[in-house]
Amino acid sequence: MSAQIIDGNRIARELKDEVKDGVQRLRAERGIVPGLATVLVGEDPASQVYVGMKNRDARDLGLHSRQITLAADTTEAELLVLVQQLNADPAIHGILVQLPLPPQIDEASVLMAIDPAKDVDGFHPLNVGRLSTGAEDVLAPCTPRGVIEILLRTGHDPAGRHCVVVGRSNLVGRPMASLLLRKGRGGDATVTVSHSRTPNLGTVTRLAEILIVAVGRPRTITRDMVRPGAVVIDVGVNRLEDPSSEKGFRLVGDVAFDEVSQIAAAITPVPGGVGPMTRALLMSNTLIAATALAARVSHTEASG
Ligand code: NAP
Repeated sequence: MSAQIIDGNRIARELKDEVKDGVQRLRAERGIVPGLATVLVGEDPASQVYVGMKNRDARDLGLHSRQITLAADTTEAELLVLVQQLNADPAIHGILVQLPLPPQIDEASVLMAIDPAKDVDGFHPLNVGRLSTGAEDVLAPCTPRGVIEILLRTGHDPAGRHCVVVGRSNLVGRPMASLLLRKGRGGDATVTVSHSRTPNLGTVTRLAEILIVAVGRPRTITRDMVRPGAVVIDVGVNRLEDPSSEKGFRLVGDVAFDEVSQIAAAITPVPGGVGPMTRALLMSNTLIAATALAARVSHTEASG
């Protein structure tokens, strides 16, 4: 058996087309252009590339995009002032502060300062808490939301299936488990979460009908650890030195793709699987935030 190779680029394009339509509708019906502000502190080359791509996506889909770059020696107080200005700016509906931040700035304080209604990364403790209590109208982190969209749009609805998540980070593993557990669309799964202290990881991962891996270590999941016919979603992105490639490295996931694709029903490649979805979901979250904020303004106007 050979697995269906899931094309994350195609699904991301489909989702972005839907976001573009939604942006046009909001503009036509309410005169609102969703606005995304990205904040980069310092000159980390990888972060510059990520932020640049997010802003390009935003412009391509008709969003208003504002890219703010601050010096590497920016203080926490200065960054907090900027966040407050963006919170109060009616043209901005989504705020993304690119992580990691320089060591003089406490990430948790900055994430906490972002208006939860504009928290398009879904990292504010209020949104994290609401997601873990099963709330549906919550801004949830982009990467796990991307995984849910992949599953739904490839005919692998997690409802009623046993999903095993490998990794318990705040960025991926935990919100992934919360989304899968939630009642309704994309949820209703039976969920097991495993991590570096899970003994005999293979005995747990072999239970999975849907296996989602977010570890950050190549070949964490080998063929013997996968149940034949499982759906395997590889979130990991790892750089392996490769002198034969132009860049001197190549990207691989956490799953031994060549061997696992022999027995899985479906599998995401790296690159070209989950990665493109994360950016698409950021655009989707910005549209959701703008729509919700517009509804809040209408409600205030109606009752005022
Ligand atoms: P992280 O914060 O380092 O968390 C890694 C998790 O994996 C931890 O929970 C850790 O367990 C667990 N782990 C480590 N070694 C393990 C092992 N041998 N067996 C089982 N579990 C193990 O990483 P992250 O932020 O979640 O990211 C994970 C990967 O996804 C990275 O490669 C990252 O680059 C990638 N990623 C990709 C996207 C995308 O858009 N494609 C987005 C975000 C992240 P403990 O908690 O016990 O330490």
